[in-house]
Amino acid sequence: MKKIFMFAAALLLAYGAGAQTSDEAYRKKADEIHAKYITIDTHNDTAMYLNHPDSDDWSVTKGQVSFPKMKEGGLDAAFFAIFLDQGPLRDSSRDSVYAYAMNEVNTFKDYVSRHSDEAALAFSPEDVKKLKKSGKRIVILAIENGYAIGTDLDKIDAFYNAGCRYITLCHNYTNDICDASRYENPNGHGGLSAFGEQVVKRMNELGMLVDVSHASTSTLYDVIKLSKAPIFASHSAVRAIKDHPRNLTDEEIKAIAATGGVIQVATGRWCLTNAPKSETSVKHLADHIDRIKGLVGPEHIGLGTDFDGGGGMIDLKDCSQMKNITVELLKRGYTEKELAMFWGGNFMRVWKETIKIAEDIAKGKK
Ligand SMILES: [Zn+2]
Repeated sequence: MKKIFMFAAALLLAYGAGAQTSDEAYRKKADEIHAKYITIDTHNDTAMYLNHPDSDDWSVTKGQVSFPKMKEGGLDAAFFAIFLDQGPLRDSSRDSVYAYAMNEVNTFKDYVSRHSDEAALAFSPEDVKKLKKSGKRIVILAIENGYAIGTDLDKIDAFYNAGCRYITLCHNYTNDICDASRYENPNGHGGLSAFGEQVVKRMNELGMLVDVSHASTSTLYDVIKLSKAPIFASHSAVRAIKDHPRNLTDEEIKAIAATGGVIQVATGRWCLTNAPKSETSVKHLADHIDRIKGLVGPEHIGLGTDFDGGGGMIDLKDCSQMKNITVELLKRGYTEKELAMFWGGNFMRVWKETIKIAEDIAKGKK
C-alpha cells in the first residue's frame, strides 16, 4: 500500500514538474520571439486617454496601454488612433471636428516628446525597424473615422503631414465618405460615396493605409475594387465565429487576402465570443486567428487590440500581457516564422507595398 502511494506521488511529481517545464519553455520561446521580431498592435484608442487622463468621460476601460506596459509585454509598436465620434454631417460640425482632431494629434505628439526617453514617433516601416534596435517604444499615429476630414481632400494631406499613417474610413455610422457596418444606413451611399472614391485615390497617392474596419460590406467591396494598395483592416474579427455586423465574413476575409492585404484581429468579448466576459480569454482570440489562417493562410493575419476602445480579456487585461497570445499560438503549433508574420511581418509587408504603390503612382507607373 505504501509502495503504491509512493509511486503515485512520484508520478504526480513528475507530471507536475513536466507540465511546469513545458509552460516555462513556451514562455522562454515567447520571450525570444518578442525580442527578435517586430511586434505591432495596429489599433488602440489610448491617445485620447493620455491626452485627457483626468476626464471621466469614458465608457470603456482606460489605461490598457502605456510605454512601460508595452515594454513589459514585449510590444514594440502601436498605432495610437485619434478617435472621432460620428457627429452631424454639416459644415460647422465638419470644421469643428477637424480642428478637434488636429489638436488631439498635436497634443499626443507633445505627450510622446515629453516621454522621449521611453518612446518615439515612427512615420515609415524604416523608422519602425530603426527604433526596434533602439529599444524605445514606437508610436504611430492614425485617425479613426474619416469624419475628421469632412468633405475636404486637402485635410487628408494635412493629417498625413501631421504624421498620421492610416485613416479608418468611418466609425459606426454613415459619414461623407461611406457607409458603416454597425448601423448600416438604407438611405446611405450604398458603399463609398463619390467623395469617398476621391478619398481612397488620394490616400493611395500619399501611401496612406486605407482602413476598412467599421466599413459596411458594400463599402469594403468598393474599396477593394478601387484601391491600388492591399486592403488593411486595423481591428476586425471573424463573423463565422461571432455573428456581429462589425466582423468580417469568410468571403470578405478571402477578398481582403486576395489583394495581398491583412486582417488585424481585434480583442474583446464584443467581437470574439458569446461566452461571458469573465471567461473570455486569448483562447477565443486564437480561434479567430486559426480560422483566418485556415481560410487564407498565415500571410494575412495580425493584431489590432482595440485597447482602451473595448479590447481586452481576462488574460489580456492590458498590453503587458501580450506574450500570452504568443504562448497560446505556440501551444497550437504555430511556427516561429508564422509568429513573426503575425506580430508584424504581414503588416509591414502591406505598409511597404502601400508606400511603393504611391511611389509608382507618382512616377506614372500605376
Ligand atoms: Zn473601432
